[in-house]
Parts: sequence; structure tokens; C-alpha cells
Amino acid sequence: MRLIFLGPPGAGKGTQARILEQHFGAHQVSTGDILRENRAHGTQLGKQAEGFMQRGELVPDELIISMIETELEKYPDGFVMDGFPRTVAQAEAFDALCSRKGWNLDGVVLFDADSATLLARLSSRWTNPRNGRTYNTLTNPPRVAGVDDEDGGPLVQREDDKSETVGKRLEVYEAQTKPLIEYYSKSGKLVEVDGLAPVDHVSHMLLHALHVEHGH
Ligand code: AMP
Repeated sequence: MRLIFLGPPGAGKGTQARILEQHFGAHQVSTGDILRENRAHGTQLGKQAEGFMQRGELVPDELIISMIETELEKYPDGFVMDGFPRTVAQAEAFDALCSRKGWNLDGVVLFDADSATLLARLSSRWTNPRNGRTYNTLTNPPRVAGVDDEDGGPLVQREDDKSETVGKRLEVYEAQTKPLIEYYSKSGKLVEVDGLAPVDHVSHMLLHALHVEHGH
């Protein structure tokens, strides 16, 4: 299974990618998580990406494209891309990669959500920095505040989930990523889910949409 998850920050892409990974073994590839890991390890890529991420801007395409090529080599049998592509240039580079590798894309899932709800969602989001798993103190709280249910370690609020930066990230989505909706509509592979529905409803809609569209 090879999928792209498209949608604004906070629309539930990461949560659903993790669910699909557990059920189907299709590896979640989150460019945001990979970049945060690079920053935590102080790599050259991490240092190059830092300022852009702090400002809520996109990291330049050429850095992202070479990073994703290396990453996807590890998962020739399937992946769910969460947060890539985010620009038309990235989508074109990904198409070229797929043709080189002979990979077929099964679908592109658009997570629909309005900005006002996303602002509220992101500012109540808590993240496990060790694996990217997220909670929401309003809709999906951890059993113990500030502690991950599964590994028992601390949860943190991402620096770019603060309200000043969230606004910028939503603007960047509108300006740079939204054109991908049209890009993928043309390929006939786009399906849409309501990102604001409860987590298990979204999973259900997602599987249904992929089943209907692609006959799995
Ligand atoms: P995310 O965790 O997906 O919200 O990503 C966090 C930040 O990482 C974004 O605000 C960007 O600065 C950067 N980033 C992640 N994925 C990409 C991408 N595909 N292209 C450019 N920048 C990205």
C-alpha cells in the first residue's frame, strides 16, 4: 500500500497514518518527524531546517526531496506519507521517483478541516517526542496528563504548535500545499475524509474510501 496523506496541520494525518501502520504494516513516513529527529541529533540537515521550522515556513524543496528519496528506499513495499509532498515541486519530484522505481501510488487522502478548529486543536495538542504520537487534551487526552499511555514517558507541546506559529503554518498550507488538491484530482486518485470526525470514524471512512476507490 502506497498512500499520500494531504491536509492542513492538525487534521489527523499522523494519527491515521499510525493506525494504518499498525493494521497494514505500511510504514508511516512523516517528514516533520524526520526533520525533528535530525534537529535533536544536531545533523547538518537539522541545522539547515531549524529556522524554517521555528517560523512555521516550509523547509526548501531540495533538502526535502533528497531526504525523502533516502527515506523511501527503506520501504520499497509500502508507505503512508504524512506531510509530504507539500509543494507542487515536491509532488513532481515524487512522481519522477515513483516512475524510476516502478512504484504505483494507491491513493491520495485529503483530510478536510477548517482553520478555526485547527487553531484550537493544535494549541491543545501534546506530542510524544520519541515517536511523534499525539494526544489532544480536549478530544483525546492521555490517561495521565502529560504522560504517554504506551511508553509512560513525558509528552511535550511542540514549539510550532504555539498560536503565533500555527497561524503561519495554516497560511503556508493555503498558499503552497493546497494547489496539490488540484494536482492529484487530475490523477483520479484523490479521496476525501472529514478530518474533524472522531478518530475511529475517520479510520472507518478512510478504509471505506480506499476500498471503494481501489478495490482492496
Ligand atoms: P509537520 O510535523 O508535518 O507539521 O512539519 C513540521 C515542520 O517541518 C513544517 O512546518 C515545515 O517547517 C517542516 N516540513 C515538514 N514536512 C515538510 C515538507 N514536505 N516540505 C517542507 N517542509 C516540511
